[in-house]
Amino acid sequence: PSRAGRLPVEDYLDGVHRRFLGLRDGAVADYIPPLGAVDPEQFAIAVATTDGQVYGVGDVGNAFTLQSVSKPFTYGLALEDRGLAEVRARIGVEPSGDAFNSISLDAAGRPKNPMINAGAIAAAGLVEGDDPFARVLASYGRWAGRPLEVDEEVYAAERETGHRNRAIGHMLRAVGSLDGDPERALDVYFRQCSVAVTCSDLAVMAATLAARGLNPLTGEQALGDASVNQVLSVMTTCGMYDAAGEWLVGVGIPAKSGVSGAVIGVLPGQLGIAVFSPRLDPVGNSTRGVAVFRQLSKDLRLHFVHTP
Ligand code: GLU
Repeated sequence: PSRAGRLPVEDYLDGVHRRFLGLRDGAVADYIPPLGAVDPEQFAIAVATTDGQVYGVGDVGNAFTLQSVSKPFTYGLALEDRGLAEVRARIGVEPSGDAFNSISLDAAGRPKNPMINAGAIAAAGLVEGDDPFARVLASYGRWAGRPLEVDEEVYAAERETGHRNRAIGHMLRAVGSLDGDPERALDVYFRQCSVAVTCSDLAVMAATLAARGLNPLTGEQALGDASVNQVLSVMTTCGMYDAAGEWLVGVGIPAKSGVSGAVIGVLPGQLGIAVFSPRLDPVGNSTRGVAVFRQLSKDLRLHFVHTP
């Protein structure tokens, strides 16, 4: 029985939260000062259903930046703007096996997938309009069900220190994966990484993916069905840095993580799940995030092949 005023689902999530609160393995990302300065103890779990219920425990209202969790959403916008054929011609869908920030291309001269930086920067470059980032931000707002903003301090740091991403941008320009000035795509990418969200926002964004692009809170269509399918497919194979295989075995749902310590997971037709806790494992995934998802997958039998 649940405590007075609490739903069984919240009691369950509370138990999972308490179980992993003592897990302090890993370290916060410190490649830029504002990320290195965050409170490493922050810990939130949020779940949103495709019929619009949102549940959360812990620091669900704390703000942090999207970082690589932005990648599937900009890829979605690129798919809507350019169509599958053009996007596929420019960005592959194969897991890379290289580091997320590797300066590499596939045999056809394309970034290997849109979840590594090269593919994400190429996707940012495919977003149309005079002010492509304004469209990216508006699109993220449709996923989250509320207007979102850039954390200007993080953006300034990303822009100042993003030499490796700049190298990737210029490589993409050289091989024709980007048109025009690479700085245009890079600026979209640095800004999208710096968009501030809460764990509840991420659960809604994930639930919108689970609901075939229809935001269950606002009823707004954030993305078309065919594009959602493409986004979830690349999340499944490429979403968890170099632990994508481990993740598929141990958790078995489409997911994406980012260096701020966020992880989203999508149960198509049912749920969006988000965990935020800043300490990262050596691969770059939130330590508590991975632990929580493994536990949820086991307890709730979320794995897509229902392994015991
Ligand atoms: N801004 C980071 C970068 O591009 C994002 C990394 C991440 O979340 O994986 O290096």
